[in-house]
Amino acid sequence: MNLAESLALVYKGKLLTAFDDMAPFLIDWRKRYKGKAIAVALPASAPEVSALVKWCATHKVPVVAQGGNTGLSGGSVPDSSGRAIVISLTKMNKVRAIDTVNNTITVEAGCILQNLQDAALAVNRLFGVSLAAKGSCTVGGNLSTNAGGVQVIRYGNMREQCLGLEVVTAEGEIWDGLRGLRKDNTGYDLRDLYVGAEGTLGVITAAVLKLQPLPVGQVVAMCVVDSPKAALDLLALAQSQLGGNLSAFELMSNICLDLVKKHNPNAKIPFPDAAWTVLIEVSDLHSEQSAVALINRLLESAFEAGCIADATISQSLTQFKDLWSLREDISEAQASEGKNIKHDVAVPISTIATFIEQTNAAIELAHPGIRMVVFGHLGDGNLHYNVSPPSDRTGPQDEDWFMGQQAAINLITHNAVAAFNGSVSAEHGLGVLRRDEASRYKSPIEMALMRKIKHALDPDNLMNPGKVLSL
Ligand SMILES: Cc1cc2nc3c(=O)[nH]c(=O)nc-3n(C[C@H](O)[C@H](O)[C@H](O)COP(=O)(O)OP(=O)(O)OC[C@H]3O[C@@H](n4cnc5c(N)ncnc54)[C@H](O)[C@@H]3O)c2cc1C
Repeated sequence: MNLAESLALVYKGKLLTAFDDMAPFLIDWRKRYKGKAIAVALPASAPEVSALVKWCATHKVPVVAQGGNTGLSGGSVPDSSGRAIVISLTKMNKVRAIDTVNNTITVEAGCILQNLQDAALAVNRLFGVSLAAKGSCTVGGNLSTNAGGVQVIRYGNMREQCLGLEVVTAEGEIWDGLRGLRKDNTGYDLRDLYVGAEGTLGVITAAVLKLQPLPVGQVVAMCVVDSPKAALDLLALAQSQLGGNLSAFELMSNICLDLVKKHNPNAKIPFPDAAWTVLIEVSDLHSEQSAVALINRLLESAFEAGCIADATISQSLTQFKDLWSLREDISEAQASEGKNIKHDVAVPISTIATFIEQTNAAIELAHPGIRMVVFGHLGDGNLHYNVSPPSDRTGPQDEDWFMGQQAAINLITHNAVAAFNGSVSAEHGLGVLRRDEASRYKSPIEMALMRKIKHALDPDNLMNPGKVLSL
C-alpha cells in the first residue's frame, strides 16, 4: 500500500490524488515555483486538519498549508520531491461569530478576505486590511504572511488585527486560543509566533480579528511632487494635520503610470508628465463633506509649504475608483511588459528618499537602460522596488538576458536595504524566494533564535519544510 492509499484509509474527508486535480495547488501564482505532492487534502473542520497532521507526523510526511495560493514568495507550494501533503484550507471558510460590542469577528482560516470584509460591512464595521488579491487570498494566508496592503498606515498589518487563533500544532493537537482579548499578559505570546510563520510552525484553522468603525466619507487626492523627498515632507504634513483620518499614502514614479497607460489606453492619468505622484486617501467617520474639507485644508497647506506642484481630488465614487485603479493596476501592467524583477523592501520612512536616490543610481550605472518601477506604501516605509528591462528589450528573446541580471540587481538592492537598516521582505514573507537572502542579512543570533523556535515547535521539520529557514 502506498502513502496515498494509507492516508485514504484513515482520512474520510476530501482528498485529491489525480495529477490534473492536484495541478492548480502545485504551482504558485507567479508560476515561478512548481512542486509535487502525495495528495491534496481539503478538510472541512479543525478536527479533520488535526487527523491529517497526526497521520503526517506518524509517517514523517511534510505538510504544506495553503489558502488562496496568491503568495508571492513561493511559500504555498511543496518542493519537487513529491513527499508532501498539501492541506488546502479553502473549504473551511465560515464566519463563526461576530460581536459588535467587542468589535470582533471569528472566522475560519479559508475565509476569503473579500468575504470577511463583506461580513464586517453587513454589521456596519470595517475590516482594516485590504489588498489587490482580496477576492482570492484567505485569512489563514493573510495571517501566515502577516499581510499588509494599502491601509496599514491607518489600521496596521494583519498581526495587528489578530486577537486570537486556533491552530493545529505540528503534532496534530488543536490549540484553541480564540480569545478576543485586547489585553492578555499571561506569558509568551503564542499567537504572535504563528502569525507570519508561513505555515512552518503549525496550521492556522481559525482566528478572532478586530473590527473597526466604518468610515462614512472617503476621498482621494492625487498630488504631483518633485521628488520622494517632497513626498516625505507631504507625508509629515498629512500625518500632523489628519491624524487617524489619513487612511492611505502611496508613492508612484512616472515609469509606473507610463506602464499603466501603455497596457490600458483607457486609463485616465491626471498628470502624465509628473515625475512622481502621491495618492492620499482620507477617511472620515462623520460625512463626505468633512473628508473633503480635511483634504482641501491639507492641499492648501501643502501648496503653501511648496511640497506639491499640482493636485486633483476625486469628485465622485467613479473618480475615487479610477484614481485608486491607477495605483492598483501597476503590478499587472508591469507583468504585461514581460518578466520583471521584484523587491518588496522596507527602510525607515525618514531614509526612503535617500535610499531611492542612491540605489536607483547604483543600479542604473551597473545596468544601463533598465527601468526602475518604484511604487509603494510610503507611509509604511515599504517600497515595491521593481525593475523592468529597457523599453527596447521587452521581447521574449530578451528575457534570458534580462533575468540573467537578476542576481546582480538583487544584490545591489538588498545590500542597500541592509545598509539602511531595512528589511528584504516588508509584507510578502520569505517563502523560498527570500529565505537565503534574509539569513544573509540577519545576525547569527537572530537566525539561531529562529531555528530554536522552529525546532521546539516542529522538531521533525515537517511543517512547510524549506520555507522561511533552511535548517
Ligand atoms: C495581485 C496581488 C496583490 C497582492 N498585494 C499584496 C499586498 O498589497 N500586500 C501583501 O501583504 N500581500 C500582497 N499579495 C500577496 C498575497 O496576496 C498575500 O501574501 C496573502 O496574504 C496570501 O494569502 P493566501 O491565502 O493566498 O496564502 P497562500 O498563498 O496560500 O499561502 C501563503 C503562505 O501562508 C501559508 N499558509 C496559508 N494558509 C495557511 C494556514 N491556514 N495556516 C498556516 N499557514 C498557511 C502558506 O503555507 C504559505 O507559506 C498580493 C498578491 C497578489 C497576487
